[in-house]
Formats: sequence, C-alpha cells, structure tokens
Amino acid sequence: MKIAVLPGDGIGVEIVAEAVKVLKALDLKFEMETAPVGGAAYEISGHPLPDATLNLAKSADAILFGAVGDWKYDTLQRQLRPEQAILGLRKHLGLFANFRPAICYEQLVGASSLKPELISGLDILIVRELTGDIYFGQPRGRRTATDGAFPGAEEAFDTMRYTRPEIERIAHVAFQAARKRNKKVTSVDKANVLETFQFWKDVVTQVHKDYPDVELEHMYVDNAAMQLVRAPKKFDVVVTGNMFGDILSDEASMLTGSIGMLPSASLNSKNQGLYEPSHGSAPDIAGKGIANPLATILSSAMMLRFSLNQEEAARRIESAVQQVLSKGLRTTDIWSEGTEKVGTAQMGDAVVKAL
Ligand code: NAD
Repeated sequence: MKIAVLPGDGIGVEIVAEAVKVLKALDLKFEMETAPVGGAAYEISGHPLPDATLNLAKSADAILFGAVGDWKYDTLQRQLRPEQAILGLRKHLGLFANFRPAICYEQLVGASSLKPELISGLDILIVRELTGDIYFGQPRGRRTATDGAFPGAEEAFDTMRYTRPEIERIAHVAFQAARKRNKKVTSVDKANVLETFQFWKDVVTQVHKDYPDVELEHMYVDNAAMQLVRAPKKFDVVVTGNMFGDILSDEASMLTGSIGMLPSASLNSKNQGLYEPSHGSAPDIAGKGIANPLATILSSAMMLRFSLNQEEAARRIESAVQQVLSKGLRTTDIWSEGTEKVGTAQMGDAVVKAL
C-alpha cells in the first residue's frame, strides 16, 4: 500500500503530521513518501505541482493531502498559484467523484449554528462531480458582447456542459454509495432553467433503473440549499454537478459546527483517491499548533476504506476519534465551556492512545 503524502502549506504540514502518526500506529504496513505541493513546491521549484510530485501521486494507491494556499501568492499568475496543484491532480488522475460526508458528532451538537434537534444524528453524504461542468467547459473568456442588454460592451462568459458518460458514472457512484447507507439519493439540478441540468436529470433517471432498491428524488438547487438548513436529516446521499456541489458541500459542512472535523475523498474509476480535509490552509492560525487535525485523521480513515480496502482499520480510527471527543478533548475551533482545550499534536496523540 503506497501512500503519497503531500502536506502542502499553512496548517497542512501540522495536520498531516498527525494523520501520519495515526496511520503509523496501526498494525499495517505502508510505504509512505512525502513531496512538496502548492506554495511549498512553488518556493522550491517554481511550480505548485512539480513533475516529481505528480509522478509520485500517480504511482501511489492513495494521496494524503493537507491543504494549499497562502495570501502571499494571490498576486501570482493563475497557473502558478498553489490552488492549481489540486486542479492539476484532479485532472491528471481523473478524480471525478468527490465524497463529502457531513456528520454531526453527538458530542459537538452544540457547535452548530442550527438547533440541536435539527442536526442531532445528522449523517449525509454529498457526492459532487469534480471534473466537468462550468468549471472546465470551453469556450470561456472575455470578449465584446454582440447581443443582450448591452451590445458592444465588454463581457465575460463560461460554458456549462456535461456529457452522458460523465453523468452516468457519477450517478452510479451515488447509487452504489446509497446502497451501503439509507438507500436514498437526491439528485440536485436546475432543470427548470438549464438545458445541461435537464439532461443531467434525464440521465440520472435512466441510471436509476439499475438500482430499483434505492429511492431517487430530484430537487432544484435553490430548494436544496433551503432544505439543507430547514430539515437536513431528510437527505441521505446528495448527488450533483461540480458547481452546485461546491456550494452545497460547504453549506452542509457548516451544519456540523466546524470545518475542522470534515474529511473528504476524491476518487477515480480505479478507486485511486486523494484524501484531504474539507478546509483550507488556514494561514491565520498556521504555525501556532492549534489547528484541528481530526478532519485529516478522518480523511485517512476514508483512504483506508475506499482506496486501501482496510475497512476495519478505518473503523478503528473513527471510533478512536469518537472516544477522544467523548473524553472532552477539544481544539480551539470546537472548544466550549466545560471541555479541555488541546493543541494539534496533543489531539493526534490522544487519537493514537485511543487506538
Ligand atoms: P480556510 O478553510 O483555510 O479557513 C477558514 C477559517 O477556518 C479560518 O478562520 C481558519 O483558521 C479556520 N480553520 C480552517 N481549518 C481549520 C482547522 N483544521 N482547525 C481550526 N480552524 C480551522 O479557508 P480560507 O481562509 O478561505 O482560505 C485560506 C487559504 O486556503 C486560501 O489560500 C485558499 O485558497 C486555501 N484553500 C485551500 C483549500 C485546499 O487546499 N483544498 C481549500 C480551501 C481553501
């Protein structure tokens, strides 16, 4: 089992160190190799995703990724910015399926901005298509408008598009995930306005014929955004396109209280995957030793489950995290009166001890 370890920038370095500590505490044999990515790689080699890092990622069964980015790179030209490393990895490895669970831990019910009864027991999975849609569609750019309200004015445009196979494969992923859960898929679209999403809806409905044991509902994205804060427990698996998924998965993550708790996985058709916390590099707290490492530790559990076929080890990590929370240990982001405040490394050590 070969793992490419890409800590990246900011708190990425601190939180990945804790996940590696936890993986090493398991009685499993891994080959782990570390490489720079993002701003850290730019500093060394002048590119956020150097060939050596990309080749390591391609040769591994899974990638454990921290986070990339820092405000100091905001003035670089777009293709040299740290965030391009993630887009490059997604593209080169064909990571089309993004899994973002939003689980509300009972011990953290009070950390959510929603009423406890709305989110207690929440366990939803957002499956976001990751390599298509308006984020990648061509043509795009700036030009002079020839029609519309202001002919002759400067305008910008993007292209929203999906091919049938792109929708089919993400729909299969969602239905198969639902089979292992509560057997319900909500497909989110904007079929009432967009041709691309009428097509999306039609194709998902056709794929559903292979999964008669799974319930399928269709929902417009505006309604889905509202239902997520009104009655989030109605959802089981949510499948949607790249842009709607980007927005809804962040909304869902905040239901649970802290972004520092949420793992994510991006998989290709060979189950090779990139595993990372849902949050960014948090430059505001980097180097202070206070970042919450649990999202990254839980991402390593997802890695064991989806790419390395080690379900039991995945469960051991998840249960160790639960135990640590039950003992009342909290990093600053999830701390509340009556609980014990700990730093990044102490939290990692506590998970190792619980294992
Ligand atoms: P962010 O997620 O880094 O931080 C948002 C807020 O959440 C900050 O106040 C931060 O301190 C806090 N936070 C985040 N993770 C935390 C953790 N584990 N423990 C405790 N608190 C935590 O988002 P941002 O501030 O908008 O972006 C900062 C940088 O990260 C930018 O350069 C952005 O482009 C980049 N980014 C990278 C990724 C990625 O690598 N996948 C994702 C999002 C943002």
